[in-house]
Amino acid sequence: MTANQSRQELQAREMDADIVIEGGTAITMVDGQEPLPDTSIFITDGKITDIRKTDYQGNQVLDSRVEIIDAKEAIIMPGLINAHTHGAMTLFRGFADDLPLKQWLFDKIFPAEARFLNPDTVYWGSLLGCLEMIASGTTCCVDGYFFQGDTVRAVHESGLRGLIAQGVIDFPAPGITDPKENIRVAREFIERWLGYSDLITPGIFCHSPLTCSDRTLKAAKKISQSFDLPLQIHLSETREEVDEVMNKTGKRPVHYLDELGLVDETLIASHAVYLDDNEMECLRKNSVKVVHVPESNMKLCSGAGRISDMVKMGLTVGLGTDGCSSNNNMDLFCEMDTAAKLSKVFDNDPTSLDARTVLKMATIWGAAVLGLENEIGTLEKGKKADIIVLDLHNPHLCPVYDPVSVIVYSANGSDVKDVVVNGKVLMKNRKFTTLNSNEIMEKVNNISKNIKL
Ligand SMILES: [Zn+2]
Repeated sequence: MTANQSRQELQAREMDADIVIEGGTAITMVDGQEPLPDTSIFITDGKITDIRKTDYQGNQVLDSRVEIIDAKEAIIMPGLINAHTHGAMTLFRGFADDLPLKQWLFDKIFPAEARFLNPDTVYWGSLLGCLEMIASGTTCCVDGYFFQGDTVRAVHESGLRGLIAQGVIDFPAPGITDPKENIRVAREFIERWLGYSDLITPGIFCHSPLTCSDRTLKAAKKISQSFDLPLQIHLSETREEVDEVMNKTGKRPVHYLDELGLVDETLIASHAVYLDDNEMECLRKNSVKVVHVPESNMKLCSGAGRISDMVKMGLTVGLGTDGCSSNNNMDLFCEMDTAAKLSKVFDNDPTSLDARTVLKMATIWGAAVLGLENEIGTLEKGKKADIIVLDLHNPHLCPVYDPVSVIVYSANGSDVKDVVVNGKVLMKNRKFTTLNSNEIMEKVNNISKNIKL
């Protein structure tokens, strides 16, 4: 023991800590808890074992047995949770901009997906998505797409946590030329990947109430029920979609899904832009999880959504970026800023969706969307160590009156310095530890050269 080893390190060794995140302002997201200045977080075997006032002399730690993450002049906070995305759509970032949803989807995205998605392109596109999520402080994602076995491979290699769901749609889809096979493929996907990794849960993702028949929706529900897994769906994204569902079924989308038996606590409904009071009450009563994707809704001009009303009613609302072709990034810091501001314009009320509420959407409520609110989403002893460190030593983050305001209104993803998931460091001082960023970007650039319609 040398003189310039810190007491903090001695404590870390006493506690058998693997990692200590040292000396930052901790935003725990525990209800009612104020920011904790000069705080250190101890991590052992993937879990948070202590959160305490930093007790150190400010010296360099020399012992390599304890990994120290320096958080001085930084915020320590729970990793962000992207509750709705399609990671491999990084392949189509900037490929089809400034179009209405139907034209974007049917003239551009569906044909491009049919021609250019295969296990290899989905794998590299998903890796790029993972890289971007790590680089911008996301530690957990809810993903729905095709060739999802290859997305699982990518997410597993990255070290991120995720609910990775196989897409189901009643059209010929990537990897499923005969739509009659879509349910079988989803079931086999779940059977193949269930239990593969502690960090990855396989699931099922129905594209929408219009693009899936009632039979398909019921069959998908049966699978999710039999494996006790969440079921994802795009719900009431546009006014046109709501009208079409009503013409087809005589009911508004939520009531139609309810009649089919889909409306319960395992349903994750993304977008939810056009809901009436009865539909919102039906979702609340049945503990359905809603995911707000403001930037995608804005870019495709779908609408804003009555998000503050849903929050006031007590609905669980998470935050997502959607895919990179309708956003065009996966930066949840930008998404929080947009969610807060869009809600103010929509409600004509500057107090609508305040910073703390939006940060809950991206952390603890996002965890609740996945049913993981007892494991992740806050900084608490005993919870999984999914933690990020936000570097405050940046002109646009100075000064700091309120760290939560800084996080939501001033920061962006590139201010994230360190990322830990399940007690494993995925990025330290902005260097990736699990993924080769140059290789991934070169691969995706090469793939993109062939993507033309
Ligand atoms: Zn989506």
